[in-house]
Amino acid sequence: MKTIIYSTQSYERPYFEAMNQKKHILDFTEESLSLDTLEKITDHQALCCFVTDQLHRKIIERLKQKGIRLIALRSAGFDHIDLKAAQDFGIMVVRVPAYSPHAVAEFTIGLMLALIRKIPRTYDRVCAHNFSLEGQLGFNLQGKTVGIIGTGHIGSIVAKILSAFDCHILAYDIAPNNLCEKYKVTYVDQQTLLQQSDIISLHCPLNAETKYLINEKTLALMKPQVVLINTGRGALINTQAIIQALKKGKIGALALDVYENEKPLFFQNYSDKIILDDVFIRLQAFPNVLITPHQAFFTQEAVENIIKITLENLDYYEQGIIQNQIE
Ligand code: NAD
Repeated sequence: MKTIIYSTQSYERPYFEAMNQKKHILDFTEESLSLDTLEKITDHQALCCFVTDQLHRKIIERLKQKGIRLIALRSAGFDHIDLKAAQDFGIMVVRVPAYSPHAVAEFTIGLMLALIRKIPRTYDRVCAHNFSLEGQLGFNLQGKTVGIIGTGHIGSIVAKILSAFDCHILAYDIAPNNLCEKYKVTYVDQQTLLQQSDIISLHCPLNAETKYLINEKTLALMKPQVVLINTGRGALINTQAIIQALKKGKIGALALDVYENEKPLFFQNYSDKIILDDVFIRLQAFPNVLITPHQAFFTQEAVENIIKITLENLDYYEQGIIQNQIE
């Protein structure tokens, strides 16, 4: 199938070319999908895009006019596409639902340990030859109450790993996961989780119900010095509200692998450019905030699986078999 691949990252192309073995005609562009870059679509039947590509109604309407029949997302999350519009225009949307939940879960635990043992600050200090431990006192993960919001593929692995740390694990999910029984997870309502957790980690999808799940009101319910980790999606947190909570000293530490307005920044090199997003710069200025640029998924295994499953999704579509469709 003739497919155009938007927002191609440098690490992706070799995998695509090796695994495709010339089965599909693949055209690559590093440009992100927008009304201005749509002219790159000629006689393609499928469009493949990344988390940074925003597929709103106007774009989807134009894709339909250009003859696109399939949108293949190279991601598990699908909050960047207007699914209703895709349905209205009769374009099938497929995704890669679980390419490596371990990659994200392990990164989440890494962030958790980095925060509670202050590893990034220590690294900075040692670089400046400051070997004092003053101000670097951390705390054990063992025995702490960790709240997991969303216990699907990723959240359940976070629970599994935390059970080995001997944590008390609370979870909230609209559809509890039976697997979590093995990891001694106690399902509670969202309010109880927010009130009782020392550490809270977000693993639910971003949708109308979960947007700004962390806001002024929910922050007020949390324990003083709570540690928050977001590897889900940026808009699960109301950034302005979290900045106010950080200013008041309510938050012990915050790790963000995703950020509400990450689109222009993440996956780009801004080291010689001026960042115009003052909110991002404010967040970065807090000593207890650790930001990573949507990196949690980024392992060899995950990238390989994303591309393998994306190519399989194209194969199946051609054969009339429905796999990984988002409805
Ligand atoms: P999943 O679909 O397997 O699990 C999501 C869980 O959230 C499900 O159990 C679901 O029932 C639950 N849920 C849905 N609505 C909820 C609500 N209102 N409150 C509480 N729980 C709710 O998804 P997953 O593979 O575990 O991925 C979770 C999220 O992680 C994705 O949606 C994506 O946004 C994000 N993600 C981030 C990265 C990264 O690199 N940072 C990579 C992959 C996925």
